[in-house]
Amino acid sequence: MAAPKIIMPALSGGVRIAIVGVGISGAYLGARLSHLGVRAVGLEAQGEDNYRSPCAWATSIDGIRGYLRTVDVDIEEYVLREADGVYVDLGGTLHRVPTRRLATFDKPAVILRMAREFEVRRRARVRGASSIDSDVIVDATGVHRAVIGPAERGTDLVLPAYQLTVRYREPWLDEFYVRPFPRYSGYLWQFPLGGGRFFVGAGDLNHDHLRRLSEFLGEHPPDEVISRDGRPIRISPPGILRPMWRLEGERTIVAVGEAAGAVLPVLGEGILPSLESSEALAGHLASGGFSAESYERELIGRFSVFRAAYRFVRRKQEGTCRAADPRCLLDAARLAAFFSSERGRTLTGVAPGPQHISLALRPFRGRPQRRLYRRGVDLPGVPGRRGRVVRHLYAFALAATIGGSSAAALVESFWRLERPLGSVEALAASIAISVTVLFLAMLLSFKLTEELVNRGVLRWDGNY
Ligand SMILES: Cc1cc2nc3c(=O)[nH]c(=O)nc-3n(C[C@H](O)[C@H](O)[C@H](O)COP(=O)(O)OP(=O)(O)OC[C@H]3O[C@@H](n4cnc5c(N)ncnc54)[C@H](O)[C@@H]3O)c2cc1C
Repeated sequence: MAAPKIIMPALSGGVRIAIVGVGISGAYLGARLSHLGVRAVGLEAQGEDNYRSPCAWATSIDGIRGYLRTVDVDIEEYVLREADGVYVDLGGTLHRVPTRRLATFDKPAVILRMAREFEVRRRARVRGASSIDSDVIVDATGVHRAVIGPAERGTDLVLPAYQLTVRYREPWLDEFYVRPFPRYSGYLWQFPLGGGRFFVGAGDLNHDHLRRLSEFLGEHPPDEVISRDGRPIRISPPGILRPMWRLEGERTIVAVGEAAGAVLPVLGEGILPSLESSEALAGHLASGGFSAESYERELIGRFSVFRAAYRFVRRKQEGTCRAADPRCLLDAARLAAFFSSERGRTLTGVAPGPQHISLALRPFRGRPQRRLYRRGVDLPGVPGRRGRVVRHLYAFALAATIGGSSAAALVESFWRLERPLGSVEALAASIAISVTVLFLAMLLSFKLTEELVNRGVLRWDGNY
């Protein structure tokens, strides 16, 4: 039997807009449209009681504040726990990456608050567009794409993920913690929610996340498991994921949020990108004469760095990202520029220094790396300084020996010229050559020592 039609009321401008899925992107879109004087109706599968948003609820407060302000919501009222830095675990070595107002917030409460700004019909699980009578149907159902339908073959990629809400009476680390898996196949996270509660979850393209999660829980057994949630996360961005919109009869169906691929592939952050895509769609819908094509073009332009991230991550996962591959280098450079840019910091809430960026762009190996450039670790009790001092001594000793003797030899050969150099010229030449050679020798010695340690010729004790 055909599903009964959901008749949409006549809305402003003669266009009837239905938003299917009232998660973060659908709720923001509806509220924003309402503030712009455009009426839309939301259709949401879940009820208001016990509304669930399977997600780790972490975002940049600086990034989200501006969006929520436009719909009269103050994010500060919903902050659960602000980060003091993210502790990245690379094979047993913790690196503290500085953050800029990265925090967990009460995401379901924010969604329900925004949903109060427009009409939402709850417990309305939509399957396909045929049951909805409206001119524009927005698919905001996240990973499901319940209305627009599955993506074209080869254009969609989702990462399986699973998460627990747990409680520790005495947390082993009361901080934001992530443990990346080799070759960017995914990562494990532990995000604090305050009051001893944490989200502990993992996502992995190789489907190894459950094993890794139980391994972690074995290392740090919680006192209580409060809830469990599993749902995959889409990482194929606009421009790769297709289609972003389609026509069905007279109706336009258009995707927004995670349904449109608005998720940063490296980190799986989808909250702010979802809001960004909803803001773009709200602008197009409110401008009159809605064109899905120009909305798609805008998304492709806005999220171009997400495509660089996607290509980079995919090549790393496939093991085809070589240092000599200019495409991979280009994408890596693009990503590095993004993470150090204002937009990158506002979107991710992470404020990495150059050393963190270079670490993040390197391939992770299966076994713990014992590399000299590993530095960091500001955690009490974890050694770091000694390794750095010894490393510098090595470098200087090598550089001084090679650099000093080469400079002396070169200057000497100058003196054997027919016209001997004047003393000032000789001194200048000597300084210039020494500095250049010293610099090159230092670089070489770093690499050389690093290689010797990696090959096990030199032993390096300590965790740095
Ligand atoms: C485990 C996990 C952890 C994550 N952690 C983070 C994080 O810490 N920070 C971050 O920025 N991003 C995170 N993300 C990504 C982020 O959660 C999503 O990208 C973001 O929530 C997408 O928002 P959305 O509104 O597009 O979709 P969703 O949040 O998925 O919302 C979709 C809505 O549609 C409804 N719906 C679904 N099907 C139907 C249907 N057929 N009919 C009607 N309604 C329907 C759902 O009930 C829901 O309300 C995480 C994702 C996962 C899976």
